Amino acid sequence: MKKINLVIYGATGSIGGSVLSIVRSNKKKFNVQGITCNKNYNKLIKIAEEFDVKKLGINKRIRSTIKKLKKYHVYEDISTFSNICDKKTDVIIFAISGLAGLDLIHKLCKIGKTIGMANKECIISIGQNLTKLAKKNCSIIVPLDSEHNSIFHLLNNNHGSFKSITITASGGPFRKLPLKSFNNISVKQALSHPIWKMGKKISIDSATMVNKALEIIEAKYLFNLEDNQIDAIIHPQALVHAMVNYKNGVTTALLNKPDMRIPISSLFFKFNDYANKTKELNLLEYSKLEFQAINTKRYPAIKLGKEVMKIGGLAPNAFNYLNEILVSYFLKGVIKFADITALNEINLEKIFSKNTNIMSPNLVDIKNINSWIDKNLYLRG
Ligand code: NDP
Ligand code: MG
Repeated sequence: MKKINLVIYGATGSIGGSVLSIVRSNKKKFNVQGITCNKNYNKLIKIAEEFDVKKLGINKRIRSTIKKLKKYHVYEDISTFSNICDKKTDVIIFAISGLAGLDLIHKLCKIGKTIGMANKECIISIGQNLTKLAKKNCSIIVPLDSEHNSIFHLLNNNHGSFKSITITASGGPFRKLPLKSFNNISVKQALSHPIWKMGKKISIDSATMVNKALEIIEAKYLFNLEDNQIDAIIHPQALVHAMVNYKNGVTTALLNKPDMRIPISSLFFKFNDYANKTKELNLLEYSKLEFQAINTKRYPAIKLGKEVMKIGGLAPNAFNYLNEILVSYFLKGVIKFADITALNEINLEKIFSKNTNIMSPNLVDIKNINSWIDKNLYLRG
């Protein structure tokens, strides 16, 4: 059996860990060609030892004298990471968080490989130009985000036209918290997601529901939707991840327990070829499955995200970029939880009162607006 040659960008993160867990249980099926991190090279070396990986990508400058790194081919700085892939590479996992990998994913989309795409920020930033670039270069983007991976499978099975798509949100840690307490939310509270164990940034995004707003836009771009064809609802049990709605009244849904290994495994296995005993779904274990509309007073990010999606052009990128900065300020204790969305809205207004929107932005347009944001960011207090 020919092994799948795999390169994992963001191998030291939460998604990287889920990918490696699948590889660990199916070692004969995979050859891990390369793995990358930002600065956590000790963890990277451990992974390299376990999976016999030869090529390591480390973004942050490191001392070249580090002994443990001598036996590897090291790619320093993210700008060199695309060279880790070669002709033999079959599948790329793109699980670097945030916008840091914008140039990298742009390069990777040009080399005609299958890309398991966990990162949503870059899709939102470049929009349909990224999916077009991939298509033009025979690259296949398979979304790994659980909702989008579900849509991907639902549409494969039910090709043809559909009316709309609904994705679900668990509601995060503050679904029931009284609104008056929102001003006192601590970093620790915001990081403790009731269902998913994820990286810090996406955990905060889930608490504010910026994550769901980003996912609405992500779905629009990945599946070429009109604005009114995509919506989100709350589903606290997080078993149904996405639904496709048809005009005859039929809705198809995909259900599985919340475990990122399930959507990721679909990149390598047919549904029935990946055994995941602990995660088999027995609906009898659930007394009820609940679905609720999203209250935009509690989650103003959803309203803002939909407005941003309608504006289009540079707006989704600006919303996402501002969020990345504002989340980092919240994590450092500089701003309050509720300010993450409030300041995003204020800054968006400022950006578009001073800059003209560009409807199909390229990388240069995106970098220009982001550096304008860096210089003109408004932080109350
Ligand atoms: P983590 O924070 O756990 O991991 C991020 C990874 O990216 C790490 O390997 C980190 O390296 C690396 N990285 C971060 N910054 C840089 C940089 N500047 N240059 C190079 N590498 C960098 O994130 P997650 O795994 O949770 O999320 C990854 C992506 O997947 C995000 O875009 C997220 O939105 C998306 N996603 C995640 C889900 C989840 O369940 N976790 C679900 C759906 C989507 P280092 O360890 O050195 O910091
Ligand atoms: Mg998701």
